Amino acid sequence: MISNIEPTDSAADIVAQVEEIFSETGVFSKARNFEYRPEQQQMAVAVAKALEGRESLLVEAGTGVGKSFAYLVPAILFAASRKKKAVICTHTINLQEQLVEKDLPVLKQVLPVEFSYTMLKGRQNYLCTRRLQKAMAQADGLFTSPEQAELQRIYEWSKETKDGSLSDFDTEPDPKVWSHVCSERGLCTPKICGHQSDFAKSSGICFFQRARSKILSSDVLVLNHTLFFTLLGSVDEEPEGGILFKNDFVIFDEAHTVEQVAARHIGVSVSSGQIRYSLQRLWNPRTEKGLLAVLRKGEPVKLVADVLKQSDDFFTLVESVCEELAGSQPKKPGGGPSRAWTELRIRRPDLVQDNMTLPIQRLREAVSDLIKLSEDKETGQELTECNRRLMELREAIATFLSQSADDYVYWVERTGKAQKNLALNAAPIDVAEFLRYRLFGTDTSVIMTSATLATQNVMGDTSSVTDDAPAKTISRVTRHASGVSAVASAPRNFRSDRRLTMSGR
Ligand code: SF4
Repeated sequence: MISNIEPTDSAADIVAQVEEIFSETGVFSKARNFEYRPEQQQMAVAVAKALEGRESLLVEAGTGVGKSFAYLVPAILFAASRKKKAVICTHTINLQEQLVEKDLPVLKQVLPVEFSYTMLKGRQNYLCTRRLQKAMAQADGLFTSPEQAELQRIYEWSKETKDGSLSDFDTEPDPKVWSHVCSERGLCTPKICGHQSDFAKSSGICFFQRARSKILSSDVLVLNHTLFFTLLGSVDEEPEGGILFKNDFVIFDEAHTVEQVAARHIGVSVSSGQIRYSLQRLWNPRTEKGLLAVLRKGEPVKLVADVLKQSDDFFTLVESVCEELAGSQPKKPGGGPSRAWTELRIRRPDLVQDNMTLPIQRLREAVSDLIKLSEDKETGQELTECNRRLMELREAIATFLSQSADDYVYWVERTGKAQKNLALNAAPIDVAEFLRYRLFGTDTSVIMTSATLATQNVMGDTSSVTDDAPAKTISRVTRHASGVSAVASAPRNFRSDRRLTMSGR
């Protein structure tokens, strides 16, 4: 399909251009499978206007509206003409793949602007060549024989892979071995092994840095909600004119899940599996492998074994107390047994006695001593990262047991295939303040869309978010027969005490 639209750079023209593209005579009308949909055009124009006005927009649009094109087209035109970065977040991998493998390639052919796009993956998806080298050198202490064979497989793959990311494996590697060789924020040292380094000259440019360069230069990024909020949590200073990147704007598709994902990220969570995993990175009593085996230090080994034992006792007790609590809940009508729980709300502090935080702290102090004595800088960094993680887990346990965070909800969750992993969770009851401050209060647009997007105020009614907003309701498009059911714009300086709750319906 060849475009016949001339590029433009004026504000009004982008809105007009979007309207034209989705019209009955627009560029899409030349495609065999195109069907003119006024709802799609209506949504696309609303998105274009919101982007131009640096305003936020909520769009509920049912299946069949063609939402992805309706936000991608204005986003691309706006990003390309204003030198901005469009950050497109979805909840499911299926939708990310659809955007990157189908929609964006089509739009690249059709639209009258040059633009680049890429999928943004978490850094732990990428091989760290420096850590790989170190793990190869320390393989005897870190890995069992089968794990060493897996490490060798990763090494062979590293010489052939195109992008050094997990998705380039035919068979994904053992997660435990991969965790020793993937890129880690706290261990990343671009000065030592980045672009211009001697390491890069001898070992090739780091895969993660190469991906990062592509990310920084791309006009459109596609990522998932979880990664978005993880990255948001790691942004120390609000970037100029943006949220994650300088001059970006954000579009959330499948936005009915944003509230839940955001709450998980602001909250705390600690599981039996995470504790075991972090400890075994130091020392695995069964295989006698780990960082402490590399260092051949005996005293911290005993402390790791102690915390592992305490952790088993702790979670066994948590489970039995939860069983009691679940059993004491009212039985279903008919008197049958109470349903086996996967999530259980905990309404009181000190669910069980704290036998964890002190042993973890003792272990952390012993590891700190090792770090001071360590002559090998890279091993010292690995230990520092382990200690940081142990601190996070310790704090999460303390927060959960004391229920010290105000206006949080606390619950225990069974996870994993066999439901054997127990997780202690705490999350804020209301993420509105966080979303207002970190998203809607920024100096850029946030567009949220979903087939099922409801807004709810403190009184529980589900009227539009704009009803009593303090200022500047800029537009509302009323229900259309079969498509866009609500389009409402929230002002950029949205700062009221109103509670905004989104939920899938
Ligand atoms: S820059 Fe970071 S990810 Fe890349 S090789 Fe160095 S430490 Fe590893």
